[in-house]
Amino acid sequence: ATAPGTVLAALPDAAPEHPEPLDRVLADVQRLIVPNLTHWNHPGFLAWFAITGSAPGVAAETLTAAFNVNAMLWRSSPAATELEERVCDWVRRLIDLPGDFRGHVNDTASTSTLVALAAARHQLRGLPGADVRRRGLAGRPDLPPLVVYASDQAHSSVDKAAIVLGVGQENVRRVASDGAFRMDVAALAEAVAADRAAGRLPMAAVATAGTTSTTSVDPLPEIAALCRRERLWLHVDAAYAGSAAICPEIRRGALAGLDLGDSLVVNPHKWLATPIDCSLLFVRRPEVLRAAFSLVPDYLVTEEAEVTNLMDTGFQLGRRFRALKLWMVLRAFGAEGLRERLREHCRLARRLAERLAAEPRFEVVAPVPFSTVCFRTRAGEEADRRLLAEVNADGRFFLSHTVLGGRFTLRVAIGNLRTEERHVEALWELLAARAAGPAASAGDGAPPV
Ligand code: PLP
Repeated sequence: ATAPGTVLAALPDAAPEHPEPLDRVLADVQRLIVPNLTHWNHPGFLAWFAITGSAPGVAAETLTAAFNVNAMLWRSSPAATELEERVCDWVRRLIDLPGDFRGHVNDTASTSTLVALAAARHQLRGLPGADVRRRGLAGRPDLPPLVVYASDQAHSSVDKAAIVLGVGQENVRRVASDGAFRMDVAALAEAVAADRAAGRLPMAAVATAGTTSTTSVDPLPEIAALCRRERLWLHVDAAYAGSAAICPEIRRGALAGLDLGDSLVVNPHKWLATPIDCSLLFVRRPEVLRAAFSLVPDYLVTEEAEVTNLMDTGFQLGRRFRALKLWMVLRAFGAEGLRERLREHCRLARRLAERLAAEPRFEVVAPVPFSTVCFRTRAGEEADRRLLAEVNADGRFFLSHTVLGGRFTLRVAIGNLRTEERHVEALWELLAARAAGPAASAGDGAPPV
């Protein structure tokens, strides 16, 4: 394992004054960088949300670097702009969103959620004419505190967006979730009512479809109905699970209501075989985004009418040509090829969950709607921490943890295209061999899958 400071200590303090041959630099990549990477492309990488640098994705990234275009304006890269429009619309169709959703590509879900909530703030349904874009938030007696709602399981990017947007972290209501880690809609309604009674202005709710810890899905139809009634912008964070919506049975089942928000984020870099970074933000009324963000200095005014200038979709001017990798991935695997792989990940996760549930030393502590399993041993936190450390020290697998209901919880997230049944079987054997408690041999009690 790499000790903190290893790489820093091996690097000179200052940049070289004179050119060095590329082969020497590449030799250092091999010697110094590769051994000190965390290998996200490894089939045993099952931490956080595993990702894949697939071959078409890697090829596309190489081309992207070679083309080196900045797709801020249509004119600054027509192909990058139009490919981005088309490929986002392909994904829109694949995940079955209505035609009024328009997508664009950001780096991360954190950016996508920030941009979506900025659009919500711009539109501010409860207070038309607030004109925050122009007048800001500070020193405005006409403007009550704005409030954003998300469950206690929602990603920290919601808080960060609130910090950046001047909403303030204390105005993010972390609504309680139920026993299956789904937002409690009655608690949401109560929180909105309490804020209104206190003179605050509910602005937006973020529903999560595939939470970071357990991949639970908030009750989207009920939350959407409440947001409509309360005139709140609904942003759906499907950064991880949104990719699985390409499978119609998952879209209709676990992800029913995915299309009910004003905006939706899906990260192909999490579970759609696309190298990081690639996050799609779909917005139902793209004109709101443009109204929130379009700001065209003289030197960027161009003649083309009726074209998309991607700089109008967010706060960034320059942007990488990220659509190329998604396009190449979709073409190289085909939608059916990707569906097969995602279904296999879900099957492997269910199988692992069944094995864990059938072994008395373990308990599975959250439902498994997708490809992530949360579990503990019955031997207590200290033993679980030790188990995690031992499994990771073994070197074949890399797992992470979360905290659920105040309790340390191990987590296996399957999402790499190279992860196969044999890897998950080997992990199960390792867990069974290392877990504390009365010994039972690996595989005992596992039901047929
Ligand atoms: N939303 C959810 C549900 C996530 O799980 C994550 C990261 O794991 C994010 C948002 C943030 O993603 P990003 O790293 O692309 O900003």
